[in-house]
Amino acid sequence: MSAPVLILLGPPGAGKGTQARMLEEEFGLVQLSTGDMLRAAVAAGTDAGRAAKAVMEAGALVSDEIVLAILKDRMAQPDVARGIILDGFPRTDGQAAALDALLAGAGQKVTAAVSLEVDDEAMVGRVSGRYTCAGCGEGYHDEFKRPASAGHCDKCGSTAFKRRADDNAETVRERLKAYHAQTAPLIAYYDTKGVLERIDAMGPIAAVRDALAGIVGRVAA
Ligand code: ADP
Ligand code: AMP
Repeated sequence: MSAPVLILLGPPGAGKGTQARMLEEEFGLVQLSTGDMLRAAVAAGTDAGRAAKAVMEAGALVSDEIVLAILKDRMAQPDVARGIILDGFPRTDGQAAALDALLAGAGQKVTAAVSLEVDDEAMVGRVSGRYTCAGCGEGYHDEFKRPASAGHCDKCGSTAFKRRADDNAETVRERLKAYHAQTAPLIAYYDTKGVLERIDAMGPIAAVRDALAGIVGRVAA
């Protein structure tokens, strides 16, 4: 079997990043987060980052042109041969079609697209409480995922943490609107292709992880 290509679909706060990092550890797959790539471009002050910054702060989607250029660069790295988990990509029809074309060029296709199904209202609380370790990027939540020892990252011990500028209630509502208008239609797109899986992602992190690991073990092991 060729290397798996998994897509995690879901609105902001659904748990895509949390689950992708766990799958990376368990299955040796590579997490590809276009949000992380764009934030790195903004921090580095590249042309793409300068163009994306205000759009991201407003909670809208960055242009397909910029996102696809960044993703294609990343997909050219050798580690993706282990198999990938796409987190936050594709987010538009155009990105989904471009991904199909990119994969077809390498004799591959999407193995599974997993829709993390959640209630919008709960997502405002999930996103507003999110923070990450400034040292290693491990994700936490004020209520749902606290470090075992307060103020110390479980993974690397760092005592520095950060929050995203776009993780405020007002911007989250814009991001949810963008999700429903431009990204949610991809659920039907992957259903038609016969690769869609749905998971109830309202339960605890560990329960979502178990459901997801069951799917990944079945389609990609
Ligand atoms: P996404 O990548 O889909 O935007 P994240 O994985 O960053 O979402 O999760 C958003 C926040 O919610 C994080 O702070 C994370 O710790 C927390 N979280 C993730 N999954 C769950 C869950 N099933 N229940 C409660 N909180 C969760
Ligand atoms: P995320 O980290 O996935 O929550 O993404 C944060 C922000 O980055 C989004 O609100 C968008 O502005 C931008 N972004 C991330 N991925 C994409 C994508 N695939 N297409 C367009 N914009 C994106």
